[in-house]
Amino acid sequence: MIEVKKQQLQFLNILRLIVKSLFSQYKWRFIGVLFVAALAGGLQTLTPKILQQIIDLLLAGTKTLSEFWWLLPIYLFVYLGAAYFDFISGRIVYYLAMKIEDYWRFRALHHYFQLPLSWHDQHESGEIGSRIDRAGSAIFSIIAELFGHNIIVSLFTLLFILIFTFTQAPLVGLIFLLPLPLYGLVTYVLSMRIAKGQVKLNKLADRAQRTLFDATGNIRTVKSFGKEQEEVALYARRWTSYHDSDYEVERLWLRQSIFQTTIEAISRVLLLAYCVYSFVKGTLSVGQIVMFLSYQQLSFSPLALLTYIFTRVRRLVKRASQLFKIAAEPDPMADIEDAVTLPVLREGITFNHVTFRYHGKVHALKDLTFSLNKGKTVALVGRSGAGKSTIAVLALRFYDPDEGAILWDGIDIKKATRKSLRERISYIPQDSVLFNRSIYDNIAYGTKHATKEKVIRAAKMAHAHDFILKTPQGYASVVGERGVKLSGGQRQRIAIARALLAQPSLLIMDESTSHLDSETESAIQDSIRYLHGKTTQLIIAHRLSTILHADLILVVDQGKIVAAGTHQQLLRNPIYKKLYNLQFKREKPL
Ligand code: ADP
Repeated sequence: MIEVKKQQLQFLNILRLIVKSLFSQYKWRFIGVLFVAALAGGLQTLTPKILQQIIDLLLAGTKTLSEFWWLLPIYLFVYLGAAYFDFISGRIVYYLAMKIEDYWRFRALHHYFQLPLSWHDQHESGEIGSRIDRAGSAIFSIIAELFGHNIIVSLFTLLFILIFTFTQAPLVGLIFLLPLPLYGLVTYVLSMRIAKGQVKLNKLADRAQRTLFDATGNIRTVKSFGKEQEEVALYARRWTSYHDSDYEVERLWLRQSIFQTTIEAISRVLLLAYCVYSFVKGTLSVGQIVMFLSYQQLSFSPLALLTYIFTRVRRLVKRASQLFKIAAEPDPMADIEDAVTLPVLREGITFNHVTFRYHGKVHALKDLTFSLNKGKTVALVGRSGAGKSTIAVLALRFYDPDEGAILWDGIDIKKATRKSLRERISYIPQDSVLFNRSIYDNIAYGTKHATKEKVIRAAKMAHAHDFILKTPQGYASVVGERGVKLSGGQRQRIAIARALLAQPSLLIMDESTSHLDSETESAIQDSIRYLHGKTTQLIIAHRLSTILHADLILVVDQGKIVAAGTHQQLLRNPIYKKLYNLQFKREKPL
């Protein structure tokens, strides 16, 4: 796999990465493109030469047709040959551009999903999606621009023309050669400015995109506050400032074209002057003049194309760099080299002196130690912000502890593959968000070989079967974006069914704080009861009714365990007693 390093994301390095991926995966096709393009370029250089011969024969007053006949089929062959080879190289380049775009697109996306939650916390998903999208298309265009669009053919043609004219008439060769450095300079200076404009443009586009994503994602809130027009106005302001900057960049393009045309015109006049002078002196035939003029025409096309492509490629590389930035993002939680596959839990899970701060700042857990024995149900209770959910996400290894370790049958979970750990654990978050897929797919999400019978059985245990049957297409009903077509309780029950189906070694349930319908409450209680003894359970409880029968209740406060025991034992503990009374009296979640 090609390594992408964060400090190597400048223009040339990105081009190198793209060409490297092209060459390493499609070496022979790539060489084929170069070969076919050289053939097309060579043939293109021949056409003015044949034209010159025909004109000179005509002007010499040749009347014998046989002298012309053989030149015509050769002209046809050369002309068509150049065009066909050109098409072939274009077609292969299109294929390669698609493949390389896909390679980097999927690679960045794969890396994106692998990156730890601490990274995701700080990056908006909508922004990333559109970045990968735009950068992916940019990679396609870079390859199409560099190797398609006849550019290689044109470059070969230019090379052959220069060699030919320098051997025939060195002065003409010089007239052809002179615009090259000038073109290069103009292109370099202007393309740098265009690239800078592009950076600004990217930022403005991201900002506009974010605004729209934010508003469309919160359509209910927007509507409930009657803010439709304001949201459109905000987006319009941001989009317009993007378009204004876009116009600025276009003006730079125009300036570039003006410079090019000027250089081109001067060079044409120089060649004409040379031709007229040499003709009068009798050192150049009319045929040769036509030939040189045709060569000049041919030599300008790659130059114009090159400047256009160079500037465009600079823009595109800027855009593509967004994707490489993601691919280069270090993954501090990546599996270690000899990571072990976690076996089914045999003894239990231990939090051993675990200390954890969110992003190095918020002190969420302080020197926390406890064990979850196999088959037992452990409940965490405590005030909001005490650190309960943090315990759950650390067990899932969404984050790593700053100090201490979490042991799975004595194995530090840092030393296990993330995939095996997550396969052994089912997690029911507080607010279960579903995929915009069918109910069946949502339940079967975490299970490799789910059968219909097993899905239905799990749904029945989670008290979800009856309401599922009442939806328009039953198990095939699609739940809407983030599951909006279902109520919070229904979503939670589907999440419970998903967890029950997966038969995990450890079930982590973050009970909802909001008021649950009685059906969902009993679904939670039944599943806890059903799994008791079969599966190790860690329950973040907001209702004491759910956990009265837990084997162990841990009272968490300010990142520490302040009391532990069964419900009966804990009733003697003042903090627990306070929580109990609070709930008992107000009938509110803790
Ligand atoms: P509980 O589940 O008991 O309500 P949490 O474990 O969610 O508590 O939170 C513990 C502490 O960590 C709180 O101070 C909370 O504000 C903070 N916290 C939780 N999640 C994050 C996060 N993603 N980034 C920063 N701080 C967080």
